Amino acid sequence: MSTRTASPTQKKTISNGRSREALKKRATHGLGELFKDQLKDMYWAEKALVKALPKMMKNASNEVLVDAIGGHLEVTKLQVTRLEDVFASIGLKPQAKECLAMQGLIKEADEIMKEAENEFVCDAGIIAAAQKVEHYEIASYGTLRAFAVALGFEDAAELLGETLEEEKEADDALTEIAEDQINSDAVNASDEEDDEEDEV
Ligand code: ZN
Ligand code: FE
Ligand code: FE
Ligand code: FE
Repeated sequence: MSTRTASPTQKKTISNGRSREALKKRATHGLGELFKDQLKDMYWAEKALVKALPKMMKNASNEVLVDAIGGHLEVTKLQVTRLEDVFASIGLKPQAKECLAMQGLIKEADEIMKEAENEFVCDAGIIAAAQKVEHYEIASYGTLRAFAVALGFEDAAELLGETLEEEKEADDALTEIAEDQINSDAVNASDEEDDEEDEV
């Protein structure tokens, strides 16, 4: 189970610096592989979002929220295409690799929408779920861009940076919608329901 762990002999070779060049070459190759893996992961994740966002849009009630999700759906479709450009920039065909994290975040969103007791709480929950998605994307694209820079993939770094900014904008927009109206609407709706329960 420890094929990736350096054997004592390998460690010794590394620590006394005899194969420094070889190690450097190996390390660069390793990061390149990791970069490609993470790229495939995000390609899967963005494509999964193209399918998941319409459902969130359909379940949202607040018009500003519906518009924000709809707008980000269109941006997301372009991000899928942009990832294809990233693959092309390093001479690869686009390939998707199942992203378990995004799969989980989408499942949680489904659960939140199913369990919400009214439309206001549902909207607040959709924002919560959507922001977790955006934060995952921000972390992923931040890392991907940094890897691209480190690996000397300048075009890829620029493209990934563009998407990173879009994800930050989406996150900020969601924060604004939540703070401006949705959270207080959800609190008021719950208060009204509590009052109704008191009257019974
Ligand atoms: Zn791999
Ligand atoms: Fe995205
Ligand atoms: Fe992932
Ligand atoms: Fe996004």
